[in-house]
Amino acid sequence: MAKNISKSEKEWKSILTDAEYKVLREKDTEPPFAGKYVYNTEKGVYVCAGCGNELFSSDFKFDSACGWPSFSKPFSNENIEFKPDDTFSMNRIEVLCKRCGGHLGHVFDDGPLPSGKRFCINSVALHLKKK
Ligand code: FE
Repeated sequence: MAKNISKSEKEWKSILTDAEYKVLREKDTEPPFAGKYVYNTEKGVYVCAGCGNELFSSDFKFDSACGWPSFSKPFSNENIEFKPDDTFSMNRIEVLCKRCGGHLGHVFDDGPLPSGKRFCINSVALHLKKK
């Protein structure tokens, strides 16, 4: 894995779109069923919209009907990070890009077996690198 990326908020603002900045840097959530990858079934690797880190493979994308792209496991545990998130009076686990610290979404324990995980990820935090 490449070295961690650290940029000032001003630098991030200059390279990200407003929507990407809001989610990746300010932990916003895109509206449900609105993101460009919710129903996407193209094959490839979803990389971080902020830094290009490989985050999720299309092989583990599934239709969760929750309104956001959902994955049963990450591309590699080395590439992501978890953080407890108690905002909005919910006990959730935040998922972040390990390389740039960008907010991606949350992970829940109601996904398909064998992992049982549902990585609920904002489309705008991802770019699909097609196979
Ligand atoms: Fe990143």
